[in-house]
Amino acid sequence: MSKGRFGVHGGQYIPETLMNAVIELEEAYEHYKNDPAFNRELAALFQEYAGRPSRLYYAAKMTKDLGGGKIYLKREDLNHTGAHKINNVLGQALLAKKMGKIRLIAETGAGQHGVATATAAALMDMECVVFMGEEDTKRQALNVYRMRLLGAEVIPVKTGTATLKDAVSQAMREWTSRISDTHYCLGSVMGPHPFPTIVRDFQSVISKEIKEQILAEEGRLPDVILACVGGGSNAIGSFYHFLQDKQTRLIGCEAAGRGVDTWETAATIATGRLGIFHGMKSYFCQDADGQIAPVYSISAGLDYPGIGPEHAYLHDIGRAEYVPVTDEEAVQAFEYLARTEGIIPAIESAHALAHAMKIAPAMPPEQIIVITLSGRGDKDCAAIARYRGEDIHE
Ligand SMILES: *Cc1c(COP(=O)(O)O)cnc(C)c1O
Repeated sequence: MSKGRFGVHGGQYIPETLMNAVIELEEAYEHYKNDPAFNRELAALFQEYAGRPSRLYYAAKMTKDLGGGKIYLKREDLNHTGAHKINNVLGQALLAKKMGKIRLIAETGAGQHGVATATAAALMDMECVVFMGEEDTKRQALNVYRMRLLGAEVIPVKTGTATLKDAVSQAMREWTSRISDTHYCLGSVMGPHPFPTIVRDFQSVISKEIKEQILAEEGRLPDVILACVGGGSNAIGSFYHFLQDKQTRLIGCEAAGRGVDTWETAATIATGRLGIFHGMKSYFCQDADGQIAPVYSISAGLDYPGIGPEHAYLHDIGRAEYVPVTDEEAVQAFEYLARTEGIIPAIESAHALAHAMKIAPAMPPEQIIVITLSGRGDKDCAAIARYRGEDIHE
């Protein structure tokens, strides 16, 4: 496979002015990924700061209640800042620092990646600017406050639909104008090469740990691994070290929103077509004219009109399966886990839980299911209460 390609997907569909920046980044990454000192520093940050390894928790009550396969939860929700995003951000911030950059820029939708980037910038004494759709700054005022508290500047983006995809476009433009001192800390396994590979590698710590932990606990590999998919970073992180283990089924759960037969969906594999956007070739939700479609999900973290190129490839070759999960199914899973295990999951992660709840009862009890809980759900409580018709103050 040629550089930065996953089958026909991936690549570098970017303006000439960005070429130097991505080449510099690729060269630095190729060097540091094999540098023992870099890897020691990153491992220390993961352990001391992020709280890794995250637990692989046997959900005994959920297993008993569903009456089928044995369910384990990979607890990325227990990481510092409450989600898997910190894995990627610490890796990229450390890399940027080694490259002599003094400034991080990032895009954010709900604000989770912006908060993680602002956190790493504070820790590593770097400037931080976060681009956020103006609509999202209104919907996610608390996260805007968090980023500012952490010392970041938040710039509302007013173009297009003033949401995540416009924030990505603005961050790319800003990077073009200041590549000398600035690193663009991209938040998922998307964008032009080398981002999908870099972000995957930093997130692959999730599957590395799952493998060690399940072998220690059960002496065998899991039968199924499930994770939710927005751009796809927690999912590829959960799948990566199992790609060669063909007996382990890999299932990515997309946000169907109000249903894949409506326009109010963000399920890219189920409804999208091949296209080129944000520097990569992959599947995207598009209208009849091939314009990027406005997408919808109750979960802001899954509300992106595309999917990372490696997932598009794993879908093409049939190595991973992708299934749509509706708002209502995710909300029911959100409530179910809270009551059953005393764990409030991110509404994104609840999409993976919801599909696990569908397949677990039909599995024999000796089979093992691992579900990645990509984040914690405190941030979602007000929105889910509103969905259920109860108005609480945030
Ligand atoms: C951002 C986010 C996601 C979606 O991003 P991926 O790149 O698809 O992992 C999922 N879960 C949580 C908790 C998030 O914050």
